Amino acid sequence: MIVMCSECGSDVSSSADFCPNCGAQPSYFIKKPKQKISTPTQKKKSKLQNDVNNLFSSLGCFIALIIFAFVIKFIAELFGWSF
Ligand SMILES: [Zn+2]
Repeated sequence: MIVMCSECGSDVSSSADFCPNCGAQPSYFIKKPKQKISTPTQKKKSKLQNDVNNLFSSLGCFIALIIFAFVIKFIAELFGWSF
């Protein structure tokens, strides 16, 4: 396990008897602060949610277009127009 020397900030093995850089005692060794881990899964999920929303909205547009076409066709047949 790698720890950090609180005296000089260098990486030290936790089994070391002293810091090879500054010679500090193991009592000066501290655990390295955990780096903030970004959450790609959550981002991915929200992106997926956006994709689903886009799909549904485009699907809604598509259905509206079909209904519109049917209405036009109905009106055309009502007035005896031919396409
Ligand atoms: Zn040190």
